[in-house]
Amino acid sequence: MSEEARAHVAVSTVDGRLVYLSASARPAMPGLEQVLTDLLYTLAQRSYVELHGDRVRVEVLRILRKQGFQVDDVNISVSYRCPQCNASIQLNPEVVVYVCPYCGWAGDVYGKPVKVRVWGAGHRATVERLIHQMGGTPVSVELRNVPFWVFEAGVEAYYSATVVYRERRMRPSTIHPRSRGSPPVQEYDVVTRQTNVSGRVAFRTSRAFLARLQAEVFGGESLRTWVERKWSFNPPKELEAGEAKPLAPSILAPELSEKSAVEALVDELEDEAAREVKRHASRKSPGEVVEVRLRSFSPRVTVEQSTLVFVPYWFFTYRKGGSLYSGACAGSEATLLKVELPISNAERVLRLAGSWLTAILTGLAAQLFFGAEADLAGLLIVVGLGLAGAFALVSSAFKPAKVG
Ligand SMILES: [Zn+2]
Repeated sequence: MSEEARAHVAVSTVDGRLVYLSASARPAMPGLEQVLTDLLYTLAQRSYVELHGDRVRVEVLRILRKQGFQVDDVNISVSYRCPQCNASIQLNPEVVVYVCPYCGWAGDVYGKPVKVRVWGAGHRATVERLIHQMGGTPVSVELRNVPFWVFEAGVEAYYSATVVYRERRMRPSTIHPRSRGSPPVQEYDVVTRQTNVSGRVAFRTSRAFLARLQAEVFGGESLRTWVERKWSFNPPKELEAGEAKPLAPSILAPELSEKSAVEALVDELEDEAAREVKRHASRKSPGEVVEVRLRSFSPRVTVEQSTLVFVPYWFFTYRKGGSLYSGACAGSEATLLKVELPISNAERVLRLAGSWLTAILTGLAAQLFFGAEADLAGLLIVVGLGLAGAFALVSSAFKPAKVG
């Protein structure tokens, strides 16, 4: 007889997440496994976040003792369940979409498939060539597929505004010769006036939003520009499940939901529409514009298409003149996004690069920390150590350099 009673059920939480719930209790007793199984089905009546933490464990322990099972300890763990191959997958709690590393299925944590597009990553050799062109020697070259939500949107805004402007007005009464013999001088008054105008502006645009919350991406702003530009002239192809599987280990799972990304998009485009209508109103001014005050402004953002895109992102470190530096580039052409230029304190650069990699790899480690045996405590330790490590490294990077 085993030392431990175990139970394992495939359920959906009350908030619709496809999960496995597992429980183990020590020592094993007759009838305990059945009771644990029933308890797990009861726990599925809760939301995903309510299944974590010590509270659930203590509660289950109390119920078991009440039913006459004098167990010493009990463990409850939660993992996601791939709807296609039923693999047990551990994800960090922020993840909203993932690619199954076993079968390549891509979808959200509720089991709804999500269409994914990806640009080809090209070859490591291209990145190494770039480093050599910069006069460096490659030390490490890592590929990550970074998620972006890309939207095609239409913006339309109606407005009315008061335009305050300055105008020069001739002063006919003051025409007088400055001195005898010189021509008469024309004098002007500068008057401030205002006029009411109204109109409509409309434009279409593509926008990309980084779908990660946790780690800052080195060269992230340039990467966003790269995505928006590339999207317009060479959009990526849709990824089939068979192609997704080998990519899974390099994929950073999206942590920003489509809904949150749309909110950010609408905010950004409404701000832009407000600037655009002010420019539009200014053009209707008969004089030099002092101020445009919007009296009414009703923007409407229509999302015409939204796509989850994985962007091949190469992070590298290289050696030059005895020091280490880091850099990042994108796509199969290895377009340079950001690179550290030689500075004196090599150790500092190394530590900064290390902290960034630790942060981003922690997310990855958490995603790959799957398997039915893995429990949540283990996952949290992985994540915790990663972030603590990153913090320590960043802190140490700013300590005064040793003089010697
Ligand atoms: Zn799967």
